[in-house]
This record gives sequence, C-alpha cells and structure tokens, in this order.
Amino acid sequence: MKISKMFENKKAVWSFEIFPPKQTADLGGVQKTISELADLSPDYISVTCSAGGSGNSRTCEIATMVKAFGIEPLAHVTCINSSASQVSDTLGELSRADIENILALRGDRIPGAKESDDFAHASDLAAFIRARGSFDLGGACYPECHPEAASPEQDIENLKRKIDAGVTHLNSQLFFDNEEYFRFLERLRGAGVNVPVQAGIMPLVKKNHVDRIISLSGAKIPSKISRMIARFYDDPDSLMAAGIAYATDQITDLLSAGVDGVHLYVMNNSYVARTVTNNVSSILASINRQC
Ligand code: FAD
Repeated sequence: MKISKMFENKKAVWSFEIFPPKQTADLGGVQKTISELADLSPDYISVTCSAGGSGNSRTCEIATMVKAFGIEPLAHVTCINSSASQVSDTLGELSRADIENILALRGDRIPGAKESDDFAHASDLAAFIRARGSFDLGGACYPECHPEAASPEQDIENLKRKIDAGVTHLNSQLFFDNEEYFRFLERLRGAGVNVPVQAGIMPLVKKNHVDRIISLSGAKIPSKISRMIARFYDDPDSLMAAGIAYATDQITDLLSAGVDGVHLYVMNNSYVARTVTNNVSSILASINRQC
C-alpha cells in the first residue's frame, strides 16, 4: 500500500526505521529483528541506505524481507554519490521487488567521495523518480533546520521544491524538544506546505547512541536529557529505562497535539520498539478509532 494512502486512512501513522547490516554480514539477525517488529503491526518499516550507494542493494533485500513479513516497506534511496544510470538500476531493482514506497534523499556528504554530476538535491532525485514510475515518494525534513541551509525559512523554501518535484509526505529528523517541532510545523503550514509530516523520535537508550547522536544530529538537548545522561551514562539498565520513558513522554505529547504520525528510530532494537509501542498503543488505538 502507498504510504500517502495511509495518511488518508489514519489519524496517526506509526512506523519504525531499521538499517541493513554490513554488506558481508549474515542476514539472520536482521530477519529476526524484522519478525519481532512485524509482531507490533507498524504501518510500515523504513530501511536506510548508505549515501555511497554500496548499501543500496542490501536496502532492497531487507525491504523485500519486510514485505515478506506482511509489513509495508519504505526503501531509502540516496543520490549524492550516484549517477542517473545507477539510480535507474536501483529503481529497476525496487520495482521488480514490488516495493512501492521510496524515501528520496540527497544523502550526507562523504569527504573525498566523488559527488554526482546528475543530482545536487533530493528534489532532483524526486523529479527523476517521479518521471520514471509510480513510486510513492517521501522526503526528509529538519525541525531544527538542515545544517547547510542559510536559514530556517530558506530550508522550508527548499523543502517546497521537493514537494513540487513529487514528494507527498515528510519524515522528520530526530529531535528531543517538542516545542522545536511545533514551531517548525507552524512555519511549514504558514509557508503553505500541507503534506503529512511524521515526527522522528529516537529513544536515547545506549551510551554509544548518546555519543553519536548528540554529535551528529545537531538536535538541541533539553536539560531533562542532559540530567538523564549525566546520571545514567554508566548505568545501562537505568539509561535504557529512562530513555524509553523520555521517548514515551515525548510521543504522548506529540499525539496529544494531533501530529500526523510518529516514525521511531529503533536502531534495530526490537525490545525498545516493543516497549515504546506498548506504552502508547492504547492512545494510538483510540486516536485511530476516531477516523
Ligand atoms: P536535500 O533536501 O537536498 O537538502 C539538503 C540541503 O540542501 C538543505 O540544506 C536544503 O535546504 C538544501 N537544498 C535543497 N534543495 C535545494 C535547492 N534546490 N537549492 C539550494 N539548496 C537546496 N542519509 C543517508 O545517507 N541514508 C539514509 O538512509 C538516510 N535516511 C534519512 C532519513 C531521514 C528521515 C532523515 C531526516 C535523514 C536521512 N539521511 C540519510 C540523512 C540525509 O541524507 C542528510 O541529512 C542530508 O544531508 C540531506 O538529505 P536531504 O534529502 O534532506 O537533502
């Protein structure tokens, strides 16, 4: 099913993001994770890909696995290091696997890697895909502004180009401060962007996530999270419990505010996905009964 249709049918779409294992790794582990995630009946599961393009075929393989478990997959496709013919090959592979949904991304710059002569922005990729098939297209958005954008307003102008090129719904970068997200939505709607937007939430549950996510995402860290990290950084059980509690509280507030949906960055951890999903399942069920 096309994800844009899900937004028409549901008040709040609920989904997970997973990443493929390394090219040489065995797929048994990720298959088990997908099976456990499928038991939670998300609306869809997205599968990331590496910007270098080396992970793209694994993305299709994992997305096919998601489909085999009866869950709709969303395959990420990046373009910053790809030629038009490489992207065409990826689209052919996804099409043969009956994958209907693509998240069209530029991808992060890899220092030293040759950048594409064919695609500069995700909007170029979206237009390219739209001209070649009937894929449903999502795109990325940044509540706290993309780091390369000149200003939040300019970032939204650029986002509009992506939508004009055929993107019909957006998945947000992770954030920890809901007020930032609400202000972003206000700017977005004020600029006339009315497509559904799913809030990206990552439960901070492990020491290595804390280190990586805080340095890479650029997300503002509220003092509640700083206190949690300071207190539980070397106490894995408490960090797991506190991270899940924070994410649950954040999602409850987002659902109370009537967001279009939540996309949970689960880092291939089905325990985290299950616990957070169970914590908010009765709210989600009640919201979606009102359709
Ligand atoms: P774009 O939409 O092209 O935007 C990038 C920058 O260019 C922004 O500053 C924007 O304002 C500006 N811009 C856009 N269009 C124009 C224009 N026409 N003229 C001038 N400036 C413009 N990375 C991966 O490598 N693999 C993944 O699987 C992956 N999944 C992601 C999923 C989500 C939900 C998110 C939020 C990000 C993901 N990323 C992934 C990271 C993403 O690729 C990077 O954040 C990247 O830097 C930007 O990608 P984009 O698609 O948002 O690019």
